[in-house]
Amino acid sequence: MRINIIGGGPAGLYFAILMKKADPKRQITIYERNGPDDTFGWGVVFSGKTLANLRAADEESHAAITNQFEAWDNVDIVHRDDKISIHGNSFSGIARLQLLKILQHRAEQLGVEVVFRTEIADVETLRSQCDLLVAADGVNSGVRSRYAEQLQPSLDVRAHRYIWYGTNQLFHGLTLTFRENEDGVFAAHSYKFNKTTSTFIVECDPETSRRANLEAKSDEETRRYIAKVFERDLAGHPLLSNNSKWINFVLVKNANWFFENLILLGDALHTAHFSIGSGTKLAMEDAIALAECFQTTSDVTKVLSKFTEVRRPVIEDYQAAAFESMVWFENAAKYASLAPIELAFSAMMRSGRVSYEDLKKRAPEFIERYEAATGFHR
Ligand SMILES: Cc1cc2nc3c(=O)[nH]c(=O)nc-3n(C[C@H](O)[C@H](O)[C@H](O)COP(=O)(O)OP(=O)(O)OC[C@H]3O[C@@H](n4cnc5c(N)ncnc54)[C@H](O)[C@@H]3O)c2cc1C
Repeated sequence: MRINIIGGGPAGLYFAILMKKADPKRQITIYERNGPDDTFGWGVVFSGKTLANLRAADEESHAAITNQFEAWDNVDIVHRDDKISIHGNSFSGIARLQLLKILQHRAEQLGVEVVFRTEIADVETLRSQCDLLVAADGVNSGVRSRYAEQLQPSLDVRAHRYIWYGTNQLFHGLTLTFRENEDGVFAAHSYKFNKTTSTFIVECDPETSRRANLEAKSDEETRRYIAKVFERDLAGHPLLSNNSKWINFVLVKNANWFFENLILLGDALHTAHFSIGSGTKLAMEDAIALAECFQTTSDVTKVLSKFTEVRRPVIEDYQAAAFESMVWFENAAKYASLAPIELAFSAMMRSGRVSYEDLKKRAPEFIERYEAATGFHR
């Protein structure tokens, strides 16, 4: 079986690893436009459950990944200088570059051909040369546009603005920080992903962005402005840019996930707002699900239908929870008028997937504080 993959991100690399491991006779080539050390972004996050899935799928790469991890079990919510810790949320972080290096190494060790610095423009030729073409080419997927008529994508560009930074200030837990200045309300999502660095994502609504004149600011001016907004949280550490730019979150869905021998995977197929977890997790779990469908048959049409059947409800459910979470952050300015404990409670319940009883079991001291402050009991 011959498999061509466009995109050497987590989705493409992990799918190649699992397919080659299951059957070394498969000929698998990944085409990646970047070099092996080029990347964007900072740290990626996995939950305890995702890690268990990664271990079951490939122990070798799981061991290498967890070896590099920074782990925590708390969500910290900071509002008006009050930091509220909610325990019982097991997560780990790793640098995106580190993760890609581990997956690249594992893929090459298994005999996958990874062709770097090669941008695929002629998708149709590549598709005609293989049994299966995997489009793992990311959120701005060119393949998805090329086959838009067949795949029928929908792209919902949200009005909120966000930017990915790094910082050497260490946030020991998934930290959600709300700060307000004369321009409006800013929310930061931060977490450490190695011994020296944290991811620091900042978002704000379009009115705040306009009042702060963010579009007109240079990279350095923007970092100085945002560092001032979060000066009490960054403790003097600057924000680190990695070609960081203000972007709008794009909610990607596709009516059809495949066309003949072509399948979309990872961000090309779907996105979920970063406030509920990482797209990396979904990309790698897509790869696991698709590889599993090849365990019973190599009939590509049957496999792609089966993959769509088993994976679509999982993704739809996740996207629905992520949508609630995204809308909550889009309304952060409204919640900023709440007292810290009320805002923290609202933030923890935002996806609609955590029940009061769950939270009480996982974080009893948090619920005790909430009940004492609000008089609410259940
Ligand atoms: C600016 C930005 C920063 C981010 N930072 C983080 C972060 O710090 N932490 C986090 O958890 N998530 C981050 N994300 C989200 C995360 O990257 C994705 O959710 C996740 O990587 C999805 O994996 P993927 O394999 O589907 O796509 P990607 O990781 O995007 O991989 C797609 C790959 O395809 C390649 N490609 C695209 N077109 C072609 C072509 N025609 N020919 C050859 N190669 C091609 C690209 O170069 C890329 O390497 C970030 C996203 C963006 C946009």
